[in-house]
Amino acid sequence: MIQPQIANKEVTLHILKTFGIRLQKKLGQNFLIDSDVVERIVEAADIQPGEQVLEIGPGIGTLTQGLAEAGAAVTSIELDRHLIDILAKTLEGYDNVRVIHGDFLKLDISREIPTGRCKIIANLPYYITTPIIMRILEERMPVELLVTMVQKEVAERMVARPGTKEYGALSVAVQYYTEPEIVFIVPPTAFIPSPAVESAVIRCVIRKQPPVEVRQEKMFFRVVKAAFSQRRKTLQNCLKAAGLAAETASLVLETAGIDGSRRGETLSLSEFAAVANAWSNVNR
Ligand code: SAM
Repeated sequence: MIQPQIANKEVTLHILKTFGIRLQKKLGQNFLIDSDVVERIVEAADIQPGEQVLEIGPGIGTLTQGLAEAGAAVTSIELDRHLIDILAKTLEGYDNVRVIHGDFLKLDISREIPTGRCKIIANLPYYITTPIIMRILEERMPVELLVTMVQKEVAERMVARPGTKEYGALSVAVQYYTEPEIVFIVPPTAFIPSPAVESAVIRCVIRKQPPVEVRQEKMFFRVVKAAFSQRRKTLQNCLKAAGLAAETASLVLETAGIDGSRRGETLSLSEFAAVANAWSNVNR
């Protein structure tokens, strides 16, 4: 039997009361109560019937239900043990949903999604948004699309352009691995309890190839990390702080065609790549 729509204030309050659920702030438990938001997330995910979807943090099954209704083969990973039995009840009747108890940051994803590529769709727990996104990207999980609810401020950092105050290591990493776009903004009233901040749904299409040519990826991210570790310093000084001798730093920057007095935060992805490739050359 298909349950009534969970993304509704009365239904959610009823579920919380019936099962005696005490929401855990430390697990980022802000549950969606707006069915329009669920519908728009499902739409942004462009789900085809039978498609594999991995959901992080189903909560009481609000977004899971929308994904299941769209015909996805959903695997949902929930850390809160108390919610596992409850999900079996709230999602009763959906034989296209599998709920796994576990920590997304520790789980072996290749074991959970054995048939190859999937989409990750989630209303993320905000206290670990960045580690979750970075794990998906850095480990090159077999994911083609990422549609997630995050804090608006985090979404703005993910799409930020060079030279803006939002631009940082997260922007570079997300734009290196994906093509991100903010789909829509979500007010605090769309959740129980209401978070203190606005949220945003961000859609990231995973790139098949990085947008810039990088000789050594590790070096690219080392330069990025160095450039943003002290935003007020010049690039020349950041490279020195990262362990390069002054003359080598100058040589690297000259080879890359970058003025060492610039701040790291003004560099585009291709300029970061140029610096990293020049540094890799010096090391050869
Ligand atoms: N999907 C539901 C919704 O949209 O209403 C709940 C979203 S709530 C923002 C985040 C969920 O992630 C909570 O249910 C929380 O228990 C779960 N969670 C927190 N940390 C987690 C982790 N490391 N791995 C998996 N789930 C986690």
